[in-house]
Amino acid sequence: MRTALEKIVGPAAVDERPVRDMWPLGIMDERAGNAAPKVLVVRPAGREQVAAVMRWATENHVAVTPMGGGSGVCGALAPAAGEIVLDMGGFDRVLEIDETNLTCSCEAGVNGYALEQQLNERALTLGHYPSSLPGTAVGGLIATRSSGQESSRYGSIEDMVISLAVVLPDGSFAAPRPGPRSAVGPALHQLFVGAEGGLGVVIGAVLRIHRQPESTAGRGYAFADVRSGLECMRSVMQAGIRPLVLRLYDAEDAAFNGYELGPGECALVVATAGIAGVAAAEAEAVKAFAEGAKDLGEEPWKRWQRHRFDLSAERLIAFLEPAGAYLDTIELAAPWTVLPELHARVKAAIGVGGLALCHFSHAYEQGCCAYFTFGGSGDTEATISHHHGVGQARARWVADELGGWMRVWRAVKSGVDPDGIMNPRSVGGRS
Ligand SMILES: Cc1cc2nc3c(=O)[nH]c(=O)nc-3n(C[C@H](O)[C@H](O)[C@H](O)COP(=O)(O)OP(=O)(O)OC[C@H]3O[C@@H](n4cnc5c(N)ncnc54)[C@H](O)[C@@H]3O)c2cc1C
Repeated sequence: MRTALEKIVGPAAVDERPVRDMWPLGIMDERAGNAAPKVLVVRPAGREQVAAVMRWATENHVAVTPMGGGSGVCGALAPAAGEIVLDMGGFDRVLEIDETNLTCSCEAGVNGYALEQQLNERALTLGHYPSSLPGTAVGGLIATRSSGQESSRYGSIEDMVISLAVVLPDGSFAAPRPGPRSAVGPALHQLFVGAEGGLGVVIGAVLRIHRQPESTAGRGYAFADVRSGLECMRSVMQAGIRPLVLRLYDAEDAAFNGYELGPGECALVVATAGIAGVAAAEAEAVKAFAEGAKDLGEEPWKRWQRHRFDLSAERLIAFLEPAGAYLDTIELAAPWTVLPELHARVKAAIGVGGLALCHFSHAYEQGCCAYFTFGGSGDTEATISHHHGVGQARARWVADELGGWMRVWRAVKSGVDPDGIMNPRSVGGRS
């Protein structure tokens, strides 16, 4: 196996080691003495090498899991012995930044933070800020259907992807399609946004970018409870305002993050952005929707900016260090009408004997994401994942959520990957 792969990519581009992502259960399993198995990690240098590896894997029925930054938190990147990992780190070129048409073409292994920095140097932004950005690659951000801190203004990754370049399991290639939009059939590239490497390998992307806003106005408000804070968020979104940041922390999460509030109060951190006059006018409109809440001034916004990337992979591992410690997150999305009760019920369920926090971010006119963090020693109107994906963590609930769409997913999966060689731990497993 190793010799065959070395023939394709060269000996220096194959090594053997354990691979896992940042799934807390995987980390805990490792701590308990169950180390991940060593697998062959192949680092292809160009499209032809990816295609040749895929052809070899198909012929030999070997499962392939593409790897980006390895920051996933659902165990989608957890190859078993005898499988191979395709490390996309060699695809690290930003090919073009088009400052007139506001597009960026880059390879899948480009680091998410490095890309943002390159854009910022030209007063541009992708507007995609998952807390894990420095540990991600563009291919992983796409394959997990990720969402960032400024999603209320810029959308999530699916809104940023104009087109994709992919290599399919049989080694064939699909190139980016031209133009800012196309009505020539469905937007088939979107099938790969969230497929967790289950359909093929993303090798490049054309992304929508933006000019950085001229001005930003941010502040905080204290609400008496979650329900009134959510009502304010809903009013803001449904008024057509697209804040740069809009996050509501429940009492426990607010205290955990150092916001000093009265008992039971929740903190709303909100920032508007754009041309100076627009940012200021939207800030005034938000203030009107927050009537009845305490105005906390600009400090909560400044505090949030200082700490926005504090939850790093290293901190996650450190939290799990003491024997018996556990920590995990659940990011659900639900309609506005469901959120207050969902908050109360999930908090009650996860709060038993440990830490239970919740904040609401990634708001839409229709609803919002509720992000629960918990740690310590049936029928639903909520999706089981807003932006972390499925991996192994949620595999058993995929069929329940997809319902009739599961047939469509299986048909696509078996059509594109008939030999079932793509990541067996993606979106509900093999077809
Ligand atoms: C501390 C912390 C904070 C986080 N915060 C956020 C957050 O705010 N928002 C958010 O959305 N997520 C967050 N995450 C989760 C994670 O960072 C995202 O899921 C991210 O998009 C994963 O990117 P990656 O490059 O690390 O992917 P990886 O972990 O390398 O891979 C993830 C999945 O994508 C597939 N994949 C990777 N590259 C390719 C490719 N080129 N082609 C096809 N499939 C591919 C893999 O096979 C795997 O199934 C956080 C994680 C941590 C540890």
